[in-house]
Amino acid sequence: MISLKELHTFGFDSLAESLIEIVHRDQLVPTFRTLKGQQYYLLGEGSNSVFLEDYLGTIVLNKLTGIQRHQDDAFFYLSVASGESWHDLVKSTLSMGIYGFENLALIPGTVGAAPIQNIGAYGVEIGTFIESVEYFDIDSSSFIVISGDDCKFEYRDSIFKNALFQKAVITQVNFKLPKQNVVEQTYAPLNQLADPSPLDIFNEVVKVRSEKLPDPKKLGNAGSFYKNPIVTIKQFENIQTRYDSVPHFRIDNSNVKIPAAWLIDQLGYKGKSCLGVKCHERQPLVLVNEGNGNGKGLLMLARKIKLDVSQNFSIDLENEVRLVGNNGLVNL
Ligand SMILES: Cc1cc2nc3c(=O)[nH]c(=O)nc-3n(C[C@H](O)[C@H](O)[C@H](O)COP(=O)(O)OP(=O)(O)OC[C@H]3O[C@@H](n4cnc5c(N)ncnc54)[C@H](O)[C@@H]3O)c2cc1C
Repeated sequence: MISLKELHTFGFDSLAESLIEIVHRDQLVPTFRTLKGQQYYLLGEGSNSVFLEDYLGTIVLNKLTGIQRHQDDAFFYLSVASGESWHDLVKSTLSMGIYGFENLALIPGTVGAAPIQNIGAYGVEIGTFIESVEYFDIDSSSFIVISGDDCKFEYRDSIFKNALFQKAVITQVNFKLPKQNVVEQTYAPLNQLADPSPLDIFNEVVKVRSEKLPDPKKLGNAGSFYKNPIVTIKQFENIQTRYDSVPHFRIDNSNVKIPAAWLIDQLGYKGKSCLGVKCHERQPLVLVNEGNGNGKGLLMLARKIKLDVSQNFSIDLENEVRLVGNNGLVNL
């Protein structure tokens, strides 16, 4: 058995039956031929996956590396192997004068997992810069390139979480970044910066995230546990009759996004814990492993929060984090 404690940022003491490390794309065909009919879970840095209990299958760990780049008059093009670290890529592009990723600094994880939930922060989503994604198609044992448009990027969503879930191993992400990039500073606190450079944005994002979010190396967590719910204007106005200060972002003429952290905070969950799993004192959207937590505690707390939010606001919270049980994904 293999320990998963160091392989997911929540740090639960779970085990897996076996592990295969993919360091070269040539390994993919024989690996998935061997795994045919067996249970497997694709894993990057485990910052969006929580192993609630022992996993009764094989972990396929992505360690593919390599970066290629070229340019034309208007764009920089990067082809990045999926096992590269996302934050290292942000730093290295910035140092080369390639801009666009700075708002997404300090998001943990691999480059290959970034398109899966279309990682986003401070008004930028990675899908904007993705020209195409190459993946190994497990059923046909072949490599396929899908265009950014066909990836169906949405808020924390893409085709890889839906039709291609467990069918595609992302091997390479191809980015296209405009040379004339305009910094994105719509969201607080970036909107307080006067005429910032991309480096100023990067530094501010790193500073704010370091202050606001618990460091998974010190306190196990998987970032935002729930997605921010999108509700109809009618639902929103209903809540507003009871809480006139409810924060919100208008999505379009019919829908509004409400911060899940605000909903959870209204119900007094900050600092509440269950069997070693706690709702963080400063950032209630983040559930943390106090060191001795386990999957049972996490499920109990996460389900209680979900039920309370549903009963008080008629909003169905959806988890952003992948919860993995003995036989694969577990629903809240
Ligand atoms: C402290 C903290 C802060 C965070 N902040 C943000 C944030 O601001 N914005 C945001 O969007 N996210 C955030 N996250 C979530 C997380 O960092 C991202 O979802 C990240 O992209 C996950 O990468 P990973 O390699 O760790 O994925 P993993 O957890 O290893 O995998 C995630 C999912 O992708 C699948 N997968 C992984 N690699 C591949 C592959 N090569 N091919 C196919 N499927 C694959 C896995 O099976 C799993 O279902 C945060 C997490 C933490 C811990």
